[in-house]
Amino acid sequence: MLKKISVCSLVGLTLAQGCAQLDNAGHAAQNLSSQQQPRNIIMVVADGMGPAYTTAYRNFADNPETPDIEDVVFDHMLTGNASTHPAPVSGYVTDSAAAATALATGIKSYNGAIGVDANKLPVESVLQRAKQLGLRTGVAVTSQINHATPASYLAHNESRKNYNAIADSFFDDRINDGFVADVMLGGGTSYFARDDRDLTALFADNGYQYVDDYDQLATLPAGTDVLGLFAPVGLPAALDDSNPHRLSFLTKNAIKHLEDPEGFFFLVEASQVDWAGHANDIGSAMAEMDDLAVTMEYLQNYVETHPDTLVVLTADHSTGGLTIGADGIYEWHPEYLRNMKASVSSIAVNMVSEASPAAYAEVQLGFTFEDDDSALVDSIAALPDFEARETALKAFLDKKTNTGWTTGGHTGVDVEVFAFGAGADAFAGQLDNTDIAKQFFRFLNNR
Ligand code: MG
Ligand code: ZN
Repeated sequence: MLKKISVCSLVGLTLAQGCAQLDNAGHAAQNLSSQQQPRNIIMVVADGMGPAYTTAYRNFADNPETPDIEDVVFDHMLTGNASTHPAPVSGYVTDSAAAATALATGIKSYNGAIGVDANKLPVESVLQRAKQLGLRTGVAVTSQINHATPASYLAHNESRKNYNAIADSFFDDRINDGFVADVMLGGGTSYFARDDRDLTALFADNGYQYVDDYDQLATLPAGTDVLGLFAPVGLPAALDDSNPHRLSFLTKNAIKHLEDPEGFFFLVEASQVDWAGHANDIGSAMAEMDDLAVTMEYLQNYVETHPDTLVVLTADHSTGGLTIGADGIYEWHPEYLRNMKASVSSIAVNMVSEASPAAYAEVQLGFTFEDDDSALVDSIAALPDFEARETALKAFLDKKTNTGWTTGGHTGVDVEVFAFGAGADAFAGQLDNTDIAKQFFRFLNNR
């Protein structure tokens, strides 16, 4: 573990003002008043959520019975905009590892880097600093917990692909003789309960409650150290999960175990907005956004009763080149997405065993088929290959909604920044993704 304790944290609170300046490498200098100083910091990363996703979600959530397009929760928290580019060696378009390393450590690195700089040297994250300073720490994500975003807050590795080594780090690394995170919720049993090493048993032997279903998690008494892994890799898609709002459920439960007089640092990730973007799957994109929106509503209420808490939400990059209104046609039709009961992936799997695939798909997609829709969907069901069926169903929905995509990868556009609660003013205007971590370090060092 690389130590980066600044002069500020050594000299303590009496020199707080001076430290804020001494630490002020980036812009957005803040003279911190006690009111602005958060005790708890909640960082929310919506992986892949470029600006088109928040706009699309507002349209998706619109009540078509009213003339207005109603505000969504994100509209009341927007404070700024952030650039996302990685270190020069990786050019202008970031991956989730370099972006998460920037968000977690304040350092630009190469695509693939997990909590290491461009020279592959470990860099302390804001979560690790928080732990060092005696706060409780946790993560709740919808990917596997050793995926790029949470890994960059919890570990150091030269490559995001070293999943087993990153999982091992969660157990092997120590800060102040303790583990890095007190609460870890998401997927990942295939990396944590391995034949060569069962990290779930090791954590259980060291005072953690290990749980693998949502109901078990809900019964734990407050303040427990928890490892909760609810799927072999990522959690099921929101559209297919037993709880379509599983991120808000995990968030609420994590906070219950993180609350502490010393405060906490908590990373929340809506991991699968990005996965829907990579898959060019508009139905799943909106369902993942809906889970995030419910999570943000919960956090908004939490901050109302806990005004010493700061919440910052941003994306690490945009994914898929999502376009609202494709092919030169000035229309978008989210009404075809509002009543989906399953993802196109699960429909593509299950439709082949149905007597009437079109009737089945009509129920699952949640809208009334018109014209040639039934014949088309029956012909999709006849495709022998799952991936061909899935691709054809996505094309069907893109056509219905007039949604466009330009890539199966990431794009380099800036992303929105949202903040509320204690210290939220520090996240206004044009930022770089590294500024968010730099400001968190200032808050932590000024405690
Ligand atoms: Mg991610
Ligand atoms: Zn991605």
